[in-house]
Amino acid sequence: MSQPECLFCTLVAEGEHMREADGFVAVADINPKAPVHLLVLPERHVDSFREVGEFPVEEAKRMLEFVAETAREAGLDDYRVIVNVGPGAGQTVFHLHWHVLGGGGGLRGFE
Ligand code: 5GP
Ligand code: ZN
Repeated sequence: MSQPECLFCTLVAEGEHMREADGFVAVADINPKAPVHLLVLPERHVDSFREVGEFPVEEAKRMLEFVAETAREAGLDDYRVIVNVGPGAGQTVFHLHWHVLGGGGGLRGFE
């Protein structure tokens, strides 16, 4: 399921996780663009959101719930969820991930 030489497969396997459950992990973004900037990574490797259909229905639902729970546990009431799809949209790591941004102070680079 994991891909050798994928940065986020490595992060899932051995990174520092803020939370983990049910095949998903949340990590702090190494280059935060907001006071709180988390990344939700599925353990299942798909290159981008384009391939979201590869997730079984139940797993896709749990992924969305995990994103919402991650924001809630980080103390965020209002926040943004961003998925960059493809290099033209700013995707730089080709393992599906959800940005969770909040905490006020603007969103550097995502305006
Ligand atoms: P993308 O540009 O693909 O939508 O998002 C990739 C994100 O991964 C960027 O916000 C970048 O700061 C973050 N990132 C890149 N390398 C690492 C890393 O080694 N560890 C963590 N925690 N985040 C990373
Ligand atoms: Zn991967």
